[in-house]
Amino acid sequence: MTMIEIISEWIRLTNQQFVPQRKPCTEFKELFAGYFPEEFLATSYYVIVPQMPVPAYQFLEQHGLTDLFNRDLAGLTLNDTYYLIPGAEDNLRIHFHELVHVAQWQHWGVEDFVSRYLEELTNYGYDKMPLERMAYDLDALYVAGGPVVDVPRIIQALK
Ligand SMILES: [Zn+2]
Repeated sequence: MTMIEIISEWIRLTNQQFVPQRKPCTEFKELFAGYFPEEFLATSYYVIVPQMPVPAYQFLEQHGLTDLFNRDLAGLTLNDTYYLIPGAEDNLRIHFHELVHVAQWQHWGVEDFVSRYLEELTNYGYDKMPLERMAYDLDALYVAGGPVVDVPRIIQALK
């Protein structure tokens, strides 16, 4: 198995484990109206976790991924599900940000998204990488009150 396949499998198992606790994002349908279609929100989920799920430390170390998961993350998106630490669930901007990532995962697919994310992280660093810039720019747009853009649609139009 390649590193990407191992991560993808870990993501699948992690999300599966949290199915009983996850909540669909339809509760944001009014707040995020126009930005995310209701069908998209109905198949996006979040889970409040005391600690972020992380792959085994030895695996991370072996592949130079410790920095990525060492970051004090308030939110982490794994495909159609994002994880939030307690307290972050009241922060709409974080929900919005993670939903942008859900749309990115959906567009590129798990394995391609993971390799793209890691490649960008290596080449640009977290603060400048395009996938994160996109999510931060869009959550800033939301906080600023618009203009309203259909997030999954604009992401689907990307290469
Ligand atoms: Zn992000």
